[in-house]
Order: sequence, then C-alpha cells, then structure tokens
Amino acid sequence: MSSEFELIERYFQRRAGDSATVSLGIGDDCALLDVPHGQQLAVSMDTLLIGVHFPHNTSAFDIGYKSLAVGLSDLAAMGATPAWATLSLSLPQLDSNWLADFSDGFFQLADHHQITLVGGDTVKGPLSITVQVHGFIPSGAALKRSGAKVGDLICVSGRIGDGALGLKMALGEINTQSKPLEKLNRPEPQVALGLALRNRAHSCIDISDGLAADLGHILKASGVGALLHADQLPLSQELQQQPRAAAEQMALFGGDDYELCFTISADFLQKLLTQKSLPKITLIGQIEAEQGLRIEHHGRIKTLSPNGFDHFEHR
Ligand code: ADP
Ligand code: MG
Repeated sequence: MSSEFELIERYFQRRAGDSATVSLGIGDDCALLDVPHGQQLAVSMDTLLIGVHFPHNTSAFDIGYKSLAVGLSDLAAMGATPAWATLSLSLPQLDSNWLADFSDGFFQLADHHQITLVGGDTVKGPLSITVQVHGFIPSGAALKRSGAKVGDLICVSGRIGDGALGLKMALGEINTQSKPLEKLNRPEPQVALGLALRNRAHSCIDISDGLAADLGHILKASGVGALLHADQLPLSQELQQQPRAAAEQMALFGGDDYELCFTISADFLQKLLTQKSLPKITLIGQIEAEQGLRIEHHGRIKTLSPNGFDHFEHR
C-alpha cells in the first residue's frame, strides 16, 4: 500500500498541468498564484457526499468528473474563465484502482477547460470530495443574480429535467435510454456560454436545484417576478416520452441539470443567437414587475412555489 504522499504524487501532482498564473503548484505548504492585473478572482466550493450527491453505484470516473463539473458550472454562471482548483479528498481507504479512475475523470474535464489543480488535502474517512474552483473575471463584469430587469427575456441553455430523469434511472425507478443517466453523471458545464453572456446578460445562475428554485434566487435577488410558458420548456426526447405532468415536474423542480438560466434584453438576445458554436438557447419567459413566479399553461396562469431540491426541507 502506498503512502499518502506517493498517492498525491502519482495521481494528482504529475497530472496537474501548468499555467502562467501558477508560480508554485502542488508539493509545498501553499500554492503561489498570480491574479492577472485588472481581473477579479471568482471563488466557489462544493462538497459531494456519497448517497446524497451521487448514488452509491456511481463509478469513480464519474465522481471525479462531476466533483469538478459542479464547480465549473458555478464559474460559468458568473462569466468567469476557469483558472485553478483545489481538491479535498476523504477516502475510506487508499485504493489505487479507484484513485486512477477518479483522477482520470477529474483531469478529463480539467484538461478540457484548462483549469490547473494547485493543491488539496487527503484524509481517511467516509467518502467525500470537496473541490474549490477559482476563475478570472474582468473587474466589474461578473454575471450576478441581482441584475434582472422588468421586461428582460428569460432563457435557458440546453435541455432541462434530464438530471432528475437520470437520477430516477440511476435509482432503478425508471428504465429508458441511457442519455439522461450520462447527463446526470457527466454534466457539461456551460463555460463558453457564460463568457459570451458577459456584458450582455443582466443576471445569470446555474440550474443545480431545479429551474423554479434557481430562477427564484434571481427573482428574489433582483426584486422582480416572472412568467414562464410551460410549452416552451426545452425537454429532451427521453423526457418527452414521460407523462407530460411528470416531465414538467422534473424540468421545473428536478436538480442536477447544470444548464444556465439568464435574463437578457431582446436586443442582446438577438446578438447572442447569431454567435457561432454556442449551445442551444431557449426563450422560456419574461421578467415582470409583479413579484413571484408564474407559469402559463394553455392560456391559464398558475403560481409556482420555488420548491426545488432543498437539503433541509424535512427538518
Ligand atoms: P500539509 O500537511 O503541509 O498541509 P499535505 O501533506 O496535506 O501538506 O499536502 C502536501 C501537498 O500536496 C500540498 O501542496 C497539498 O496542497 C497537496 N495535496 C494534498 N492532497 C491533495 C489532493 N487530494 N489533491 C491535490 N493536491 C493535494
Ligand atoms: Mg494538508
């Protein structure tokens, strides 16, 4: 059995990559990092727990991938360029096969987005993974939750609800094609879209707890309300094969989609839609002065409570 130090060297240090902003990476007591002039540092941390944030049967590769993906999604939602990550691992034992697969998943995404692992911590304990991500944003250009304006159009990237459908599949509750399961385990953080939204979108959030809950955060922070149109929600083919009410439920209240929800003026949306190589963008509603979240269904309007997934709701 190798020591903790050999393990860090083999699976994390040697693969950690290089960057002009990293003066000193893994191996000393601290990393030494340089924030480029005129940029702000965007920082976010997420902890993934077995049985809570991923089912017990999730592969080590997918756990490694997802533990970074959720952080990259936060950077995307602020319009930040990924720069550095730190990784805190609590492991029940030093299992080389597990670590090899975990680091393959982590670095597949890290290399794709050129984010450099600059340090971390490794302890023995129940399986838990904490990743902190750091990104750069030109000072003052961050996409906050608080900027939505009455009359803004509300848009989402990609398709929503597949994270929830994927979870039902992972738990064996539903058996359909494997695509939503892939989306649950390997969400694609919308980093390029986040960058394209800088200086255009008025507000932005990533959808991790469900559209209603996350859009609800924008509405609260901005002091506005919204009207959504049920028939405009972008649902995948797999989700459309589910009963309509269940599909809408998953799209509105399911979690783990990691798409972006943003509000933008009609002019800027037109400009955005002419830009090449961006993901699918769908207009789903508009910001209104009247507080609260409403949804229109064949001409009838219902009020939505923002009951997305909430870890403390059963207290
Ligand atoms: P210290 O005891 O001084 O905190 P550690 O032995 O915890 O040092 O870590 C040694 C080096 O390895 C540090 O640079 C630390 O950032 C890095 N490191 C430890 N665990 C990880 C990990 N899971 N991923 C990346 N780097 C790690
Ligand atoms: Mg340490």
